[in-house]
Amino acid sequence: MSIEVKDITKLYGEQKALNSISFSVNSAEIVGFLGPNGAGKSTMMKILTTYINPSEGEAKVNGHDIDKNKKEVQQSVGYLPEHNPLYTDLYVREYLKFNADVYNVKKKRIEAVIEMTGLTPEAHKKIGQLSKGYKQRVGLANALLHNPDVLILDEPTTGLDPNQLVDIRNLIKTIGKEKTVFLSTHIMQEVEAMCDRVIIINKGEIVADKYLDDLRDGQEQIVVVEFDYRVEDTFLLKLPKVKSVKNTHDFTYEITFSTTEDMRSYVFDFAHDNELKILQLNQKNASLESLFRELTS
Ligand code: ADP
Ligand code: MG
Repeated sequence: MSIEVKDITKLYGEQKALNSISFSVNSAEIVGFLGPNGAGKSTMMKILTTYINPSEGEAKVNGHDIDKNKKEVQQSVGYLPEHNPLYTDLYVREYLKFNADVYNVKKKRIEAVIEMTGLTPEAHKKIGQLSKGYKQRVGLANALLHNPDVLILDEPTTGLDPNQLVDIRNLIKTIGKEKTVFLSTHIMQEVEAMCDRVIIINKGEIVADKYLDDLRDGQEQIVVVEFDYRVEDTFLLKLPKVKSVKNTHDFTYEITFSTTEDMRSYVFDFAHDNELKILQLNQKNASLESLFRELTS
């Protein structure tokens, strides 16, 4: 077991940010910690990285107690904080070298993490010159420096543009093949894109803990499509196996199909036959979507 949390409560003054929560994460799993803003995600992560202490309860990371074996916990985890503070005036290598010294990590490891995180083409630049996506890679490289078994990533994809998003998701998935990854997000699609399992937190309490594969067994799917022009809902209802159509904004529609067969090609053909252009086409996990809505509304 890589992470074990038992009855953790955290009070900030009168406010209960975490209310007796328990869960565990197996090694080499990518687990998404999903919840709306203010749910308690960052608080839980700061406790697991020993930045703050819980008010009550126990937790272990890689078998080490967060209270009794702080040093061992710190050696076991790589942490990417939510608003990752970076020294914008430093060059990428200077920054990593500084932290390598702090962690007592050999110089060789710096080049290894630069390569691992795809930073090589930008590694000669000042951190301030990098795009948000590359800054995030610096944060990940830094978290990987001491070769920890467990990575705790707080909203690693928030604020990235669509291209950067895809790159960082892939990078996290690659890292997740070898390490345990516990990542937080308030965006459901991020869980679908990266995780094996989801733990949903709302108002400081765990409200669901599911493997994505189990959720995919549902009988429905949602296709989100953006056309270049307005389409009547009744028109879209003519698609095969369609259950409902919702116009979510402008020319974007959420079409629910009562089948698990991938219906995107039907939507494609429909657009073609009706001389519409598709600007975006995505599939959503209907079960995860309804679960999240139901549990956090
Ligand atoms: P999330 O990361 O899910 O958005 P947080 O863990 O940051 O949630 O916050 C959970 C709750 O605790 C929020 O209501 C937040 O305002 C409160 N909170 C977080 N940190 C502090 C703090 N240092 N002092 C007081 N309240 C805090
Ligand atoms: Mg947070």
